[in-house]
Amino acid sequence: MRKNIVAGNWKMNTTLQEGVALAKEVNEALKGAEPKCDVVICVPFTHLASVNEVIDPAKLGLGAENCADHKSGAYTGEVSASMVSSTGATYVILGHSERRQYYGETSATLKEKVALAFENNLTPIFCIGEVLEERENGTYHEVVKAQIEDALFHLSADDFSKIILAYEPVWAIGTGKTATADQAEEIHAYIRGLIADKYGKEVAENTSILYGGSCKPSNAKEIFEKPDVDGGLIGGAALDAPSFMGIVNAF
Ligand code: PEP
Repeated sequence: MRKNIVAGNWKMNTTLQEGVALAKEVNEALKGAEPKCDVVICVPFTHLASVNEVIDPAKLGLGAENCADHKSGAYTGEVSASMVSSTGATYVILGHSERRQYYGETSATLKEKVALAFENNLTPIFCIGEVLEERENGTYHEVVKAQIEDALFHLSADDFSKIILAYEPVWAIGTGKTATADQAEEIHAYIRGLIADKYGKEVAENTSILYGGSCKPSNAKEIFEKPDVDGGLIGGAALDAPSFMGIVNAF
């Protein structure tokens, strides 16, 4: 059966020292706790190796927020999937809307990143989601469908089964404006249907689909209760250990 997962996305926040302290705080809060979901933190590249030293991997997973679309070589400033993996991280966020919007990520580059993540034993947390205009003009189903088809549907069923999806409506990210639980359920069920059409019911039932967009302790429970929502990708609220744990404990 699919897993429930709460994953933090720290984005470009915290110094190394602040990040290590935050990771320690989350790790401490998980000691002796029995959360009903897997818990992951995705942190800046500079923090990965140090954070890996202070967390218990049995309780807290570690991921990067991106990786390069090339294996190695003359790509100044890039960080490869193998470099990420060598820090001890086992997850990588791919296709976050901020990467698509500000750094021009396309389905073509994301395909390469997914392949490199797999080669390096990283589990992709693959983000999809529409902008406000697409929600309002009713084209959001097609947008999300194209994002999944173009970047992921070339994968074998075995490889697709290793992906965690995160549906993040761009209009809800960092805006304080959350999708309602019903809006989240409607699109998550649609996404699961697309997966079932392509790979069959079993793969669809086993795919974790996280919701992301202004998720907080106060709204997480209602959203996570929906049958096709398997957890959350958490931005702002992941930067405060009690808030993050409040969301973890919403399950
Ligand atoms: C995100 O960036 O993945 C996100 C969901 O951010 P926030 O929770 O701050 O809306």
